[in-house]
Amino acid sequence: MENNSTNLEHPFSKTLGEGPYKVVGFMEIKPCQSRGTTVVGDVQLTKHDKWKGGCGTCSHCGTAIMNIVVIRTGSGELHGVGTSCALKADLPPKEVSAIQLRIRKQNRTKRVELNIKKRNAIQEARQNKQVEISAIPHPYDQNKTYLDYVNKCCLNYQSVVSSVYKTLVEKNIIDKV
Ligand SMILES: [Zn+2]
Repeated sequence: MENNSTNLEHPFSKTLGEGPYKVVGFMEIKPCQSRGTTVVGDVQLTKHDKWKGGCGTCSHCGTAIMNIVVIRTGSGELHGVGTSCALKADLPPKEVSAIQLRIRKQNRTKRVELNIKKRNAIQEARQNKQVEISAIPHPYDQNKTYLDYVNKCCLNYQSVVSSVYKTLVEKNIIDKV
């Protein structure tokens, strides 16, 4: 009897070529002061004679990518794909966890960057929108205003930044970052 699962086409077979697929390196596109962006990691792989591209655009789905997983196909070609596409490659568990670690790191960086933007927006409003912020009640003390609260609260805590940001956005005092 024929086993149907062997007939299923791998999602990469039409874009990258046939497997088996193996992760051979990682690269990352980072912002750079002098040149806009710079590529770090296993950059030498892009000089390989079987390098087929994907440094900045996923070879599988065409999305712009900052975190690049270099996949070697069955024929030895090297392709750069994004982390989420790389997880479609039926990779061994060890390679899957290496990619998941990268995704977690990437998400952490995004959260930190977002928090910095929120904090900057709050700082700016604290200088320029004092009247508007003072009109909001203090969360615990009815004799004080929200401006007192914002001036006193510690914006080093992510949770504080998130709650103040949410309040100021709801009151249309700051724009969403
Ligand atoms: Zn992709």
